[in-house]
Formats: sequence, structure tokens, C-alpha cells
Amino acid sequence: MKTYSLDSGNMPAIGLGTWKMDDGAATSAVETAIRLGYRHIDCAPIYLNEPDIGQVFGKTFASGGLKRSDFWITSKLWCNRHQPDQVMPAIKETLTDLQLDYLDLFMIHWPIVFRPDVHRPAGPEDFLTLEEMPLIDTWHAMEECVDAGLCRNLGVCNFNRKNLQLILDGGRVRPAVNQVECHPFLNQRQLFDFCEGNNVQPVAYSPLGSGDRPEKMKAPDDPSLFQNEALRELANKNRISIGQLALAWAVNRGTVAIPKSTNEKRLAENLAAAEINLSSEDISAIENLGQHHRFVHGRFWESLGGPYTVADLWGD
Ligand code: NDP
Repeated sequence: MKTYSLDSGNMPAIGLGTWKMDDGAATSAVETAIRLGYRHIDCAPIYLNEPDIGQVFGKTFASGGLKRSDFWITSKLWCNRHQPDQVMPAIKETLTDLQLDYLDLFMIHWPIVFRPDVHRPAGPEDFLTLEEMPLIDTWHAMEECVDAGLCRNLGVCNFNRKNLQLILDGGRVRPAVNQVECHPFLNQRQLFDFCEGNNVQPVAYSPLGSGDRPEKMKAPDDPSLFQNEALRELANKNRISIGQLALAWAVNRGTVAIPKSTNEKRLAENLAAAEINLSSEDISAIENLGQHHRFVHGRFWESLGGPYTVADLWGD
């Protein structure tokens, strides 16, 4: 498996996404994924399955075969834990749930802040602004988690260039990763050029277009990667599936991708995509599909009437 060398350790180019693995589905999916050879697992407390995944890690490491150091394990800080005094308790809870001593990567999940007692906001009063709770103060508390040995790298998710620059300018520990939505309908070229210019590894979330995202995030005219004729032709030409084409494109252009699947056949297919080499013509054809579509669009933050707008979130 191709890996990317970060400040501390090597991040495998394909990881397992674990959002929407509910009601115990994460246990068998992660077990199967590890058996198939996945060594990079992307977690978050808001996915409400870290205790299930932790059981798998606990069993795996106790069995004596695979070691903790064979894996790259990521988790994230949810929006109600940005207050500096909340950050270390939050990572400790995640570590307890995941049955781990340290994370390879700990990231700010969104540049959005809730009041500490709010799990999911219901209205404008449930948010704090970034002036009230600056991202850099949260970052400094995360740096203390590195100092304490609780995580080896720090990163951010859903950060535009402006938010990333704030951390690059004010942080003592560099952001190693920016995890954002990216797939053939959203190539993120400008943002990734900026990341690469600052030695920040881009990670593509929803690399297959997040077909199982919640209904409230869907619109009737949303496109699907799996019904796109140009992608179908390129996949047929390379004798691979559209899913593999999207993932091979991500890896061939220097991105990490973290597809989610609970299905053994698709888990295997997705992992194998890391080894597929596409021609430079095919990579550019996907790069230049000319679509610009976000599936995880962020309008759910705006609709609650709080201080956050989609224009601020994705713009610079
Ligand atoms: P993906 O783009 O990974 O798509 C998942 C969907 O694709 C599921 O319906 C899955 O079904 C299906 N699928 C998986 N493999 C294939 C295949 N080879 N062919 C056809 N269909 C396939 O969506 P996610 O939104 O889950 O993104 C991946 C991960 O990224 C998340 O799980 C999470 O870890 C992370 N993420 C991070 C965010 C952030 O804010 N930082 C936001 C969103 C995601 P099935 O399971 O049945 O195979």
C-alpha cells in the first residue's frame, strides 16, 4: 500500500471511513476491513460507534498478531469540545472508547463551534462565533495533547485556505492534514495546491459521493458518480469499477481517500484501488469533468440561523 510520510509516521493512501456505521455495523465492517488488509481507520466521536470500533482494536491487539504500530488511526474533535479545557478530556474519552493509548492523527472536525452543553444544535443560540471561540485557541489545546503523547499528528477538516492559514501562522505544531470532501465532481484543485504548497496532506472524504448520506442532506437533482457516462467509459476502458476509478484517481493525484463500506466485496474492491495506475490522460479527464458539486454541503449549519454561512465556510 502506498503511504504518505507525515511529521510522525506514514499514512496509508486508502483508509476506512466509519460514518453511518450504526447499530453495531462498525464492528463487523472494521473486523472485515482489518482481515482484508486495511491499516488506516478514520473515526469520530460523532459517528457514535467508537466503542464498537474499540472492541475490534482491543481484540485485534490482544490476539498478538497485529500491533498498534501497524495501524494509522484518526479521530476528531466534535464542535462542542472546542473550549481549550474540553480538548484533552475529549481526546481521552475517544482513546478510552477506541481502547487505544494514542491516535496517529487528531483533527478539528469542523471550523464551527457549539456551546459546550450542545451536542446537536437546534437554533442560533446554540452556536458560538469564531471570534468568541477562536480556532487557534482550540489548536493550542490540541498541541498539548501532542506534548502529552495522546496523539502524534494534528489536522483539520473542512478548512478553507483562510482558516488553514490562521493555524499555519499561529500554531506551534503544523497541521499535517486537511480532510475535505473530494471526488470527481469536486476536485478541490485550488485548495489542494495550497495544502501541498504548505506541506499539508490532503485527505478526500466522501470520495465515492456519499450515496448513503442522510436524506435531509439530499436534493432530488443531486448527481451520482455511479451514473455518470464519462466515468463509466473511463472505468470500462480500464476494466475497473467506477468506485475504483474514483479512488485510483484520488491516490494517483497524491490524495489520501477514506471510502466507507460495510460490504466485504466493496471493501476489497476499494482497497485494491490503491494499486491501480491510471494514465495521465485519464487523470486529467477526471480532473476536468467540470462539475462542482458538494454532497456534504454544509447548508445544515446555515439553516439553523446561526453565525455560520456556506459562503464563509467554503470561500476564502
Ligand atoms: P463515501 O463517499 O465513502 O460513500 C459511501 C457510500 O458508497 C456507501 O453507500 C457505500 O455503501 C457505497 N460504496 C462503498 N464502496 C463502493 C463501491 N466500491 N461501489 C459502489 N458503492 C460503494 O461516503 P462517506 O460520506 O461515508 O465518506 C467516507 C468517510 O469520510 C466517512 O465514512 C467518514 O469517515 C469521512 N467523512 C468525514 C467528514 C468530515 O467532516 N471530516 C464528512 C464526511 C465523511 P456500502 O457501505 O453498502 O458499500
